[in-house]
Amino acid sequence: MAKIIDGKKIAAEVRADIKRRAAEFAAETGVVPGLAVVIVGEDPASKVYVRNKGLACVEAGFKSVTVEMPEETTMDELLGKLEELKADSTIHGILVQLPLPRHLDEKAVLEAIPPEKDVDAFHVVNTGKIMLGEYSFLPCTPAGVMELLRHENIDVCGKECVVVGRSNIVGKPMAMLLLHANGTVTVCHSRTRDLAEVTRRADILVVAIGKADFITGDMVKEGAVVIDVGMNRRADGKLTGDVDYASVEVKASAITPVPGGVGPMTITMLLENTLTAAKESVK
Ligand code: NDP
Repeated sequence: MAKIIDGKKIAAEVRADIKRRAAEFAAETGVVPGLAVVIVGEDPASKVYVRNKGLACVEAGFKSVTVEMPEETTMDELLGKLEELKADSTIHGILVQLPLPRHLDEKAVLEAIPPEKDVDAFHVVNTGKIMLGEYSFLPCTPAGVMELLRHENIDVCGKECVVVGRSNIVGKPMAMLLLHANGTVTVCHSRTRDLAEVTRRADILVVAIGKADFITGDMVKEGAVVIDVGMNRRADGKLTGDVDYASVEVKASAITPVPGGVGPMTITMLLENTLTAAKESVK
């Protein structure tokens, strides 16, 4: 039976450490890390995420600003707000909650966040730095996965790592981070032929596809480490991952549950990035 990787517990430990380091930094410099989260529209799931980000900031002793803008906000209005936040020296990190309403140009909005305040690490400059391995900020979810592996003393070096999913925010940066950690990395997607044959090779399997319970026990090698990034809402309202937990936990050596695995680490890494941005701002 697999060891359960307790993301909630690890996140709490890392957050306590971030809080301690932020307090030390504030005592030395007088600077309190500040995060602004911008939300446009009324998407209920986005509202929950934004509220949780704000709460996590306050718990860590950070300044937290939430900017709520109506659904009909124009590009000019949103870019104007980002300009204000860019000029605000008490704000070190700016995040625009996605998805944006359809009439807004997501790419242009992400590019309007200055790279030094881009704590989601979605700006093209930060994306490029990830490719080169020269990062200040790492995208929060893949960074959270790496932190979980570190905490569990799972060495990536030389291992067969398979990432299922190639999105810009999870799959691709995840593959780069595993590669930088000297894993042998394969990336799978919806056009991959014989997915199970590839996933069965993995010593470390990271799944981020957005399909409930998709990866089953027969697709996993005995003793593999399985990281489930997926967050899917079932018809009964319950949250479930991309991995069929029941059939995989009997094959894997370690597994992240959903909820309570990767999820809590994502906001934790957002705090880490905000602290990094605050530190960089006084250099
Ligand atoms: P996207 O929808 O952007 O990407 C999904 C990827 O999965 C695509 O690359 C797609 O391939 C691939 N895919 C889809 N179906 C299959 C299939 N049948 N076989 C193989 N590959 C497939 O999703 P995200 O990366 O944004 O998110 C993935 C999941 O992670 C979601 O459940 C999301 O909710 C969750 N998530 C969780 C976070 C957390 O904090 N825990 C944070 C962010 C996301 P192709 O490119 O060919 O279309």
